[in-house]
Amino acid sequence: MEPIDPTGEWPLDVVVVGSANVDLVVRVDRRPGRGETVLGSDLSTHPGGKGANQAVAAARLGARVALLGRVGADGHGRLLRESLERDKVDLGHLREAGAPTGVALITVGPEGDNSIIVSPGANARLEEQDVADAAGLLRSAPVVSLQLETPLPTVLAAARAAHRAVFNLSPPAPVPDELLALCDPLVVNEHEARMVLGAGGPPAEQARALLRLGPRSVVITLGAGGAVAADASGVTTIPSPRVEAVDTTGAGDAFTGALAWRLARGDGLADAVAFAVRVGAATVRGAGAQSSFPTLSEVEEP
Ligand code: ATP
Repeated sequence: MEPIDPTGEWPLDVVVVGSANVDLVVRVDRRPGRGETVLGSDLSTHPGGKGANQAVAAARLGARVALLGRVGADGHGRLLRESLERDKVDLGHLREAGAPTGVALITVGPEGDNSIIVSPGANARLEEQDVADAAGLLRSAPVVSLQLETPLPTVLAAARAAHRAVFNLSPPAPVPDELLALCDPLVVNEHEARMVLGAGGPPAEQARALLRLGPRSVVITLGAGGAVAADASGVTTIPSPRVEAVDTTGAGDAFTGALAWRLARGDGLADAVAFAVRVGAATVRGAGAQSSFPTLSEVEEP
């Protein structure tokens, strides 16, 4: 494998600005009605959050990654720090907030259906000032990777400060034109694309329509269908390898983390998406989110 940074120009490949949550998962036969209590399975506890997931996905592939975020001064915060350190994510800018660590309360029904309540906690305290304080960090990587589980003004400030901003518009919410114009690429799934455009349609058409909103490039992920990449040079559809899908949790985060890393290495958009599609497909073959993110040797072409 060639060196990640042959010029030695960049201390980091990717800075992720975003959320870190603990996922608390209980399986239930049925969900409680109002005022009712039901018994569920043993609790399982997993590191998660879109920001941390993107950071771990890229780091596990070999990227040098830092996470700018906030966790609480509590046991969940320690759990997240330990798991991120195991994946060699730089935590020099993961600060403590005067609020509990973000938590996703997840019930899984008998058909594998999820219901999720997110308590953002410390993630909601990631402020524009944190981005200003980390200006040097953001300038030390060719790519900054963003999502929307932290406050929008913080995300916008980070996009402004980035050399190149990869922005996964998830969870979907209205965003200002200025943020869209800073994306290279804007990454959305089909549902998010429909939300932004206010209408559905063939993915290639959707990608062209999103491009007209201002981003330098657009990627729409299509689940088992792979992804569409669009920029000024045209639209490319990249199919996903066929795999037996066990659990799609975190596939979009793994895809975006992998994409950010390959763009940081200098790949063109279509090549980076082709790699990210393989990482997404590898992720759905295993249960859980971070636990199923692949290493580089698991996705390298023979
Ligand atoms: P999630 O919210 O589940 O994390 P998402 O909706 O953001 O995911 P998807 O489009 O479902 O994103 O998946 C992202 C990528 O993961 C796809 O582009 C594809 O590469 C891969 N992928 C997802 N589902 C499958 C599948 N069933 N088979 C193969 N690859 C898949």
